[in-house]
Amino acid sequence: MYSKTPLAQERHLVTAIPGPKSQEALARRAAATSGGLGLTFPVVIERAQGAILQDIDGNSLIDFGSGIGVNNVGNTNDRVVKRVIDQVQSMTHTCFTVAPYMGYIEVCELLNELMPGTHAKKSLLVNSGAEAVENAVKIARHFTKRPAIVVFEHAYHGRTNLTMSLTAKNMPYKDGFGPFAGEVFRMPMPYPYRAITNAATLAEDSFEEISHRIEKEIGVHNVAAILIEPIQGEGGFIVPPKGFLPALADFSKKHGIVFIADEVQSGFCRTGDWFAVNDENVIPDMVVTAKGIAGGLPLAGVTGRADIMDSVHVAGLGGTYGGNPVACAAALGAIESMKEDKLNDRARHIGQVLGDKLRELQGKYPIIGDVRGRGAMQAIELVKAGTKEPNTQAMQDVIKYCTSKGVLILTAGTYVNVIRFLPPLIISDALLKDALDVLEEAFASLK
Ligand SMILES: *Cc1c(COP(=O)(O)O)cnc(C)c1O
Repeated sequence: MYSKTPLAQERHLVTAIPGPKSQEALARRAAATSGGLGLTFPVVIERAQGAILQDIDGNSLIDFGSGIGVNNVGNTNDRVVKRVIDQVQSMTHTCFTVAPYMGYIEVCELLNELMPGTHAKKSLLVNSGAEAVENAVKIARHFTKRPAIVVFEHAYHGRTNLTMSLTAKNMPYKDGFGPFAGEVFRMPMPYPYRAITNAATLAEDSFEEISHRIEKEIGVHNVAAILIEPIQGEGGFIVPPKGFLPALADFSKKHGIVFIADEVQSGFCRTGDWFAVNDENVIPDMVVTAKGIAGGLPLAGVTGRADIMDSVHVAGLGGTYGGNPVACAAALGAIESMKEDKLNDRARHIGQVLGDKLRELQGKYPIIGDVRGRGAMQAIELVKAGTKEPNTQAMQDVIKYCTSKGVLILTAGTYVNVIRFLPPLIISDALLKDALDVLEEAFASLK
C-alpha cells in the first residue's frame, strides 16, 4: 500500500455541501484564480482514492466523473502510485528528444500493441489531448501534403487555437476567441435521437451526404484527414449508428485520407473495449489518446501507421515535457491495472447495471428522452415531457440534488441537457448502487 491510510469506499457526509471550510476556500479560489475557469462541484478536495473524493470538511463523496474520464483505474491507484514514487526518486526529466529513457519507449510499445490492426505502428507522446490532436493533424498534413481537415458537428477536440477550430460548440469553447484556424470543414454528425431521417438508413444517409460534400465542396484530393470521436464526449455521448464509422474508414482508405480516431475520452477500457473503434473492428490510420492513459498524470499519445508516423523529418516533432518519465511510469501502472484488474470486463458490467437503471428511470420519468452510450460511458438526455425540447432546468436540478447528497456527476451536450456518467471502472457494486439510488431520489424530487 503506497497511499496513506486507505479511504473507506463509502459516501459519508459530515457537513452540508459545500461545508464551511470549502466555502472559505472557494472564496480564495474566486479571488486568486481566473474567472474564466468553470466549477462543477463546489467543494475543495483534499484526498481521493478509488471512487471516493474527500473534501477539506471531511465529507466522503462519490466520484461519478473520474476527473472527466481520466481516473479509469481509480484515484491514487496502487500500481500507479508505486511506479510514480519509484520514478520520481530515480529521474524526473531529461526531455526524451535530448536523452531518452525506457518509460517512454515502453508506453509507445504498449500503445502500438493495443491499437487495432496488425500493421506496423509507431507512437509519439505529448502532454494533453489537445496537443495530441494538433500533432495528429500536423502529421497527417505532412504525410498527405494536403491541407483540409474534416470534422463533425457536436465534436470536441480541445481548447488550443487549432483544436478550438476543430471543436463544434461556440459557447463556452470558442466565443470571442477567434480568429480560428483555416481549412477545417464541419460535416453533419448522425445523432440517432435527433435524426430527422429514417433511423434504419441514418448511417447510409449521413455517409452519403458527407461523401458528397467532401467530393463537391472540398475535393477529396485536398483532404488530409477525417477526424472523429467514435463516441462523442462533450457533445453528449452521441453514438453514431452502426456502419457509419466503417463507411468513413473505407472512404478514407479509398481516397488516401488519414482516418483519425479521437479516443481521448472513449479509450482505455471506458466502453468495455480498449478503444471504442474496436466495437465495429474499425482500424484507424491514427488514434489519439489522453485522459485515461496515465491514471491521472498528464500524458497523451498519437499512435499511427508506421509509414505515416515516420513521414516527418527528424526533429519535426517533440516538445520539452512530452512523455515525461513520471507520467510514463503512471501510464505503465495504469495499463497494468487495466489488464490485471480486467477493467474491460468491469466496464461492461458497470454498463449493464447503469444502463438497466437508466432505462428503468426512463420508464418512470418521461423527461428522460434518451439513454445511450456503451460500457461505463453512458448518458441521459433530458427533454420537456412529450417533446424533444432540451430541458436544461431539469438537468441542473438533478445535478444540484446529487451534489447536495455528495455524488459528483458531470453534464454535457450541445443543448446543455445531457447528464453523463463516467465512474471509475474500479467502483464497487455497492458504491455504484448508492450513487444510482441518489440519482433516482433526484428524479423523484423534481416537481
Ligand atoms: C478532453 C478531450 C480532448 C482534449 O484533451 P485535453 O487533455 O483537455 O487537452 C480532446 N478530445 C476529446 C474527445 C476529449 O474528450
